[in-house]
Amino acid sequence: MIETYDFLSRVIDAITEHIVVIDAQGAIVYANRSWDAFARENNCLILGDDWRQVNYLTVCDESAMMGDQFGHLAAIGIRHVISGARDLFYLEYPCHSPQMKRWFMMRVTPFTAGETSYFVVSHQNITERKLAEEQVLNTSRLDGLTGIANRRYFDEFLEQEGKRCARLNLPISLILLDIDHFKLLNDTYGHLAGDECLKSLGTVLQRFTNRPGDLCARYGGEEFAVVYGNTTGRQARYLADKIIEAIRELSIPNEASPTLPIMTASIGVATAYPDARFQQKTLIETADQRLYLAKHQGRNQVIGEEDVVPIGLA
Ligand code: GH3
Ligand code: MG
Ligand code: MG
Repeated sequence: MIETYDFLSRVIDAITEHIVVIDAQGAIVYANRSWDAFARENNCLILGDDWRQVNYLTVCDESAMMGDQFGHLAAIGIRHVISGARDLFYLEYPCHSPQMKRWFMMRVTPFTAGETSYFVVSHQNITERKLAEEQVLNTSRLDGLTGIANRRYFDEFLEQEGKRCARLNLPISLILLDIDHFKLLNDTYGHLAGDECLKSLGTVLQRFTNRPGDLCARYGGEEFAVVYGNTTGRQARYLADKIIEAIRELSIPNEASPTLPIMTASIGVATAYPDARFQQKTLIETADQRLYLAKHQGRNQVIGEEDVVPIGLA
């Protein structure tokens, strides 16, 4: 029994990896049961109902032409194995369904039967590992108290977004926000109450960051930062005004504050049209100077581009 075709095909059907065998032209010559079941239930990189009609390479080429970078990479990798340029190709790729996130690992290896070359293309579900990795990544990017981005991720995001805006010739704006007289709030109501205020502030900022080019972050202590990609100084100024208004509307008591008896904040806004030499440091420094000015001029206010009198013209 063990040496029979029937026995081996049952073994291959019992394997949870989805397996197809293709010939040197990419035509599918065999698929195991897991493949059949998966192909019936889904349609992503992996194919339609009847694999006998399908050329695997054509499917990869077609999805590459539709803009799928994984289809593109798969087509190149498979051709490398077919040409003998490499013995093994593997590729991790996402294949999310509307209901859940999923990732697979594709592996391609060659073998010969008689004079003919064949290639095993297997797909293993690696979702569990990917989700664990994603969680570790998110944890390392988030501030433990407020649940919004931390300083480390802010730096990374500002750099990426700055490059994106430089490529597309778009403005980028940065808001730096500092709570007014937060020390007095802590002293009056206790450090734990202070922590709750920081959390509420994080929630407010999240409401004002909805686009892919937006990010709010805890910059440190009671200072926060908001990145707005593809946003002019005027638009950022408008958002900053809305943010300090929303903070006042929280009506969190800060009785001892000489500014107002509720929690308020000051904001500095800076905008740049980044080029290839874009320095995020300069944008941060400018926003920081304006924040300092907002504090100096009485707190509970925004200072942006238009509020600053150019030096020498005052
Ligand atoms: P200003 O209006 O000039 O910004 O005054 P301020 O009191 O807000 O500024 P200062 O820098 O004097 O004090 C900041 C305070 O923020 C002191 C510090 O204890 C508090 N703080 C920093 N991080 C945290 C935190 O995680 N939780 C709490 N509850 N307080 C924090
Ligand atoms: Mg501060
Ligand atoms: Mg402060």
